[in-house]
Amino acid sequence: MGVPKKRTSKQKRDQRRAANSKYVAVNVSKCPKCNEPIVPHIVCANCGTYRKRAILKVAVD
Ligand SMILES: [Zn+2]
Repeated sequence: MGVPKKRTSKQKRDQRRAANSKYVAVNVSKCPKCNEPIVPHIVCANCGTYRKRAILKVAVD
C-alpha cells in the first residue's frame, strides 16, 4: 500500500480542500407573469406562480 513520504502541510491541505468549494452565483431567470427576477424551480415570490399556474395567494398591498 502506498504510504505518503511527507506529511502534507496545513497550507497544501487547505489549498486542496478549498479548490473543491467554490462560491457559485445563483442562477436567475425572469418570471413569465410579472417579469421579476426569480430563482428557477422555485415559486415566484412576487406573484406566487410556478410554471404559469397560481400556487400561492400573495397579499396585495
Ligand atoms: Zn412572478
